[in-house]
Amino acid sequence: MVLPMSPPSACYYPISRYYRERFGEKVYKVSVSIAESCPNRQPNGKLLPCVFCDEWGSAAYHLERDRDLETQIRVNRDRIARRYRANRFLVYFQSYTNTFDRVARLQERFDIALAQEGVCGLVVGTRPDCLPARVMPLLRETHERDYVMVELGVQSFNDDQLLFLQRGHDAACSVRAIERLHQETGVDIGVHLMCGLPGESEAQIIEAARMVNSLPVSNVKLHNLHVLKNTPLESLYRQGEFQPLELEEYSRRVVLFLQHLSPHIAVQRLAAVASRWDELIAPAWTREKLRPSNYIEQQLIESGVCQGQLG
Ligand code: SF4
Repeated sequence: MVLPMSPPSACYYPISRYYRERFGEKVYKVSVSIAESCPNRQPNGKLLPCVFCDEWGSAAYHLERDRDLETQIRVNRDRIARRYRANRFLVYFQSYTNTFDRVARLQERFDIALAQEGVCGLVVGTRPDCLPARVMPLLRETHERDYVMVELGVQSFNDDQLLFLQRGHDAACSVRAIERLHQETGVDIGVHLMCGLPGESEAQIIEAARMVNSLPVSNVKLHNLHVLKNTPLESLYRQGEFQPLELEEYSRRVVLFLQHLSPHIAVQRLAAVASRWDELIAPAWTREKLRPSNYIEQQLIESGVCQGQLG
């Protein structure tokens, strides 16, 4: 099997290379926290918050959500530009469910973001069950003019695990959402997947990689399931009903997944890092910024494993 050019440091296809191939230069994501809620957090709604989700809706920069969109972009863009000498950026609407709003408001946010200096596209985080028909033309038209990626919180293709996570949607819903997005909008699609869910088997990890390979998805973002304060998962952890993986076992599962993942699908992230360290309960290694990814890359190199070699 012929792999796309791999960096010498690791035998997988990192998103940085995907962006360079697509945009012709380095491109960095600038996260913003604009959306204020999601279908699972509606007062008197039928759904419960996802078992792992803290009150900030998975935002990286939750303290900034009181700032307006332009300010958030400027502050975060300038910080990244200084640090990485970057000139081009994708504005990442990260927190909560960004399509859970009026189309006019979304359009306004998209227009503001795309008008900022150095911004060459958008990344819109949302849930598979929150893509109403009225949002699709906006995504399609914006993508026809500029670049749009939708990142879908798929998390798992196993319905029992989705139930455990209290996601409120099933795997079929994720598959339908990916196919609809592709057919109706043509946007680039990334999926978030978790490793380390209760009952996860090797067969299931391989099946998840094969499922991603069969769908019109350009990239995956891998997360370990970690326990944050004041989440339903904290109670399960304290009652001994959930035990997060140690880094060695998490790494083994990620390596297995990558072996079966098409070499043409980029990897956004190998492991999650806790954005709010003071909220992290377990596992402790999620507190370390670089070690988890470095460890997994080292495992790939030492075991001579490449992405897609068994796909
Ligand atoms: S993970 Fe997303 S969908 Fe789930 S409760 Fe948090 S913000 Fe809502």
